[in-house]
Amino acid sequence: MDDDRTTIQELKDEIKEFCDERDWGKYHSAKELSIGMITESAELIDHFRFKSDNEADEILADEKKRKEVNEELSDVLYFVLRFAQKYKIDLAHELREKMKKNSQKYPLDKAKGSNKKYNEL
Ligand SMILES: [Mg+2]
Repeated sequence: MDDDRTTIQELKDEIKEFCDERDWGKYHSAKELSIGMITESAELIDHFRFKSDNEADEILADEKKRKEVNEELSDVLYFVLRFAQKYKIDLAHELREKMKKNSQKYPLDKAKGSNKKYNEL
């Protein structure tokens, strides 16, 4: 679990090295990396398709199935990080900026405990 202390920059550097060694940069356009995110997201959601919330919890409690889910989640993150690395996007900065926007779209007094979209609040 200590791996979670790894920085985003360290992960970007590891992914860049991995891709550079394989000469994959030529395949990693913004479009292809975006497709990768969606494809891997589909593989992730396939584990939970047609499952109830309780069944999804059971999947995550099963060691083998949880590992498979973890791998798909990591595949999604790989494409997110590769996109950010290749196109020089400061992900921590961008995420914090987006969360600021979200906190304005979803003010606590209106959004707390609600699943309504911001335009329905
Ligand atoms: Mg996958």
